[in-house]
This record gives sequence, structure tokens and C-alpha cells, in this order.
Amino acid sequence: MIDSGATQDFIDREVCNKHGIKMIKAKNPREIYLADRKPSAMGPVTHMTKVPVDISSHRELATFQVANLQNHEVILGMPWLREHNPTIDWNDKRITFNSERCTTWCLKSSPVAYAIPEEKALEENLITRFSKIQAKNGPTANNQSVRVRKLSAEARVPMKGTARAAGHDLYANEGTDVPARVQAIVGTGIAIGLPHNTYGRIAPRSSLAVKHRLMTNAGVIDSDNRGEVKVVLANLGDQLYRVEKGDRIAQLIIEKSRQQGGTRSNPVG
Ligand SMILES: [Zn+2]
Repeated sequence: MIDSGATQDFIDREVCNKHGIKMIKAKNPREIYLADRKPSAMGPVTHMTKVPVDISSHRELATFQVANLQNHEVILGMPWLREHNPTIDWNDKRITFNSERCTTWCLKSSPVAYAIPEEKALEENLITRFSKIQAKNGPTANNQSVRVRKLSAEARVPMKGTARAAGHDLYANEGTDVPARVQAIVGTGIAIGLPHNTYGRIAPRSSLAVKHRLMTNAGVIDSDNRGEVKVVLANLGDQLYRVEKGDRIAQLIIEKSRQQGGTRSNPVG
């Protein structure tokens, strides 16, 4: 919780105990006073602690006073607000870390800090989940996460249709007609960075293959491919098949590459 009415930054004592966070004894125990000058049940403060705190891509080592917060894990008060000086849009519930300190020290990746609309948070979770799922089957290299980058705002991140599905569904990012006996290229609006020594195979979705004789062609993504993933759809049937934007058109299966330690030149994109 961010509370501009709090004179200090606090962390809940139980949270520290539960997670084994090391607490440092304060030199002088302090009472916490409420606005009416009575001592608060949150205190007295006898310990301090330093904990890494992640808020989206913003990371810092924060110093907290340990208190009995009960309803909150942490309260980020005035010291924190002054230090990071974020822009807070209270209506949209959006925090933008745009101070010089944050852009220099705290932000891991994106210089534009983070909004927390639900849709965005959800999307970020999906990306993380996707990475985790794939990492399980990946090689035991250091960097084995699958990175998914959206190249357009409306592109959809690959999703597993069912828990037991081998692949992740790929979504069309544009509407396309695939006439009978013809093949068409459909953009997905995403780029994928694969772990070293893996490749992505684009396979037909079985329902499309069975019902509409819609197959996939030329569907391999190298681990060094950074460009847009495009699906070649081949219509082996007798009728035109209309792909709508947002349709699931194929599936992506990540497999281990047999090639040992080889490097490829010519990265795309
Ligand atoms: Zn910061």
C-alpha cells in the first residue's frame, strides 16, 4: 500500500517471520503515534529490515521499519515517496517511475515504467507463465526462458488450450482469406526469443486440420529469430477459409535442437 499519510515505510512483522526476512535491532525503539497523538497498536518499532522490492520492472532495496500492520504487507510512506518520487495517477491507479533516480537505478528493463491496468498485469502473468511452462522442457542452459514480445498492441500471447496440450495456440493478428488449394501467410504480431539449442515448430491445430483441411507449412522458428512469427496456412480443402483477427490458427511446440553447440549466422529482424 502507498500511503502519503505515513511518516515512515513499514513492513509487517508476520511477513518478515513467515519469509525468514532478517530483522536488524533498532538502536532506539520508537512508538508510532496516530494523528490524535495516541501510540498506535502497530508499534513500538524495535527492528528494521532491508528487503528487495519489485513493483513491475522497478526494483530496489528498500529499508523498512518492522511493525504490526496486519492488513498490509508493506506500507510505502513519505520516505519512499520522496526517494523515488513517482508520478501517481490516483484515478487510474497508475504509478509511473519517471524520476532520474528510478530511470537510472531502479528500472530493470523498460524506461517507461509501469501501469497496472488489470489487462496489462494479466498479460504479463501470461508471459511469465508461458516462460515457466516452456522452461521445464527446455535444456539446462543458463538462459532457458522463452521471451514473447508483442509487436502490436492487439497481438495475443500464445496460450495453452488445455493443461495437457503439447503446444501453445498461436493467434492471427490480421484477417486473411485462404482460398481453396492455396496457401496464405498470416502474421501473429508476436516475436519469440527461444532458449539456446531449442527451436519452435509451428504445427497445425488438429481441429482445423480435421474440419477444414487447414495445414501449416514452413513452420520453424530458430532460437535466434527475433522477427514476427508468421504462419503459413495451406488450405487443402475445396472451400475458402476465412481467418479472422484473433482466431487460433496454429500451435507452437518448442523442441530441443539436436545440433550441438553450433551457431547460426543471419539473425532475422
Ligand atoms: Zn525508484
